[in-house]
Amino acid sequence: MIKVLIILSYILMKAFGAVIEYLNHAHLKGELPSNVKDVYNEEEYKKWMSYEAENGKISLIQNIVQVIVMVLLLALDVYAGLFGLFEDANVYIQYLAVIMLIGIISTVIAIPFSYYDTFVIEEKYGMNKSTKKTFWLDVIKGYLIESVISFLLISLLMILFERFGNLAIILGTAVILVIMLIVMLIIVPLMRIFNKFTPLEDGELKDKLLKLCEKYDVKVQKILVRDASRRTTKSNAFFSGYGKHKVISLDDNLVKNFAEDEILAVFAHEFGHAKHKHTLKTLPFSVCSTLIVFIALGIVLNIPALYTAFGFNGVNYLFAEMLISIITWPVSIVINAIGNGLSRKNEYQADAFAAKEGYGENLIDALKKLNKEALGDINPHPLKVFLDYSHPTLSQRITAIRKENI
Ligand SMILES: [Zn+2]
Repeated sequence: MIKVLIILSYILMKAFGAVIEYLNHAHLKGELPSNVKDVYNEEEYKKWMSYEAENGKISLIQNIVQVIVMVLLLALDVYAGLFGLFEDANVYIQYLAVIMLIGIISTVIAIPFSYYDTFVIEEKYGMNKSTKKTFWLDVIKGYLIESVISFLLISLLMILFERFGNLAIILGTAVILVIMLIVMLIIVPLMRIFNKFTPLEDGELKDKLLKLCEKYDVKVQKILVRDASRRTTKSNAFFSGYGKHKVISLDDNLVKNFAEDEILAVFAHEFGHAKHKHTLKTLPFSVCSTLIVFIALGIVLNIPALYTAFGFNGVNYLFAEMLISIITWPVSIVINAIGNGLSRKNEYQADAFAAKEGYGENLIDALKKLNKEALGDINPHPLKVFLDYSHPTLSQRITAIRKENI
């Protein structure tokens, strides 16, 4: 009975996602909001829609294959079977081996779809920047990184819960938060693994950025340019670090393709986040949502029947992690919707700050460009926005910015 319910819960989770995607695709055919009609011209928009339709079809087929495989894995007790293969090994070796095997299964299922997506669909629309060598290297790198992260996480859970029992709920939350804070602090050094950062050349742009920093009393250690154009046509800009050690990072695409006032407008938006202390203000939400995950883990780890139903002799940490995502999906949809709602509120505030500083129209121009570069959806379904969007839609942002300007 438990087994049937959990498999049903998994199918419902995937079906819910498919319904949202279907609604979003159906919505594309509707009338565009008038303030974003000029982002793509008619030709470009038609092309964009057929690109979206092809992508949608591929991801639907991929999802169906995933559901079939996953239902088979669960129904046939494959997880317990894999652990049984390494019964005599040290418990960490056992987990590592199974994580790597499961990783191979999911990678092999995903390869045909991402290959088709990159070399057939993206190639057709002239967007593919990848070579076959980069593609295969990314597959291998992705597989290895995912296996290592998953292994470290499972080991952490195992150590905490075996040593401290239910106290691990509090300790685990604290450890995850500390890791999150450290990652925020060292994001640039971490990104150096994939990208090159060089100091922004002296000149007008640098002078104006430094003047903005002075005006808003934000201490910045350095301004760096990231070589994002090696991978993508998209651009980004961000602040990292705390206090006096803040670093500004600009993508080379932004420096190359955007007018100076547009770049300054993007920064005025970032200063808005800093002024309103958004990083600090989202901390209580992060604490609560992490705590909820650990409470769920604590509960799931105390019900041995959940594991014996799938052929295990007792509790299994890797399986527990998976059970949580299957059992608590309605809860995580609610938590994500709340988090995204808070994030959208912060984005409106940062936009309003930039608009009040006189960068409204420049920010609108920059946002339109950014959206076009990223082949963004300018007409998403409201339910999709409510559940998934960390930023308001382009149209919503433009309307709000123009209201500030009046
Ligand atoms: Zn923002």
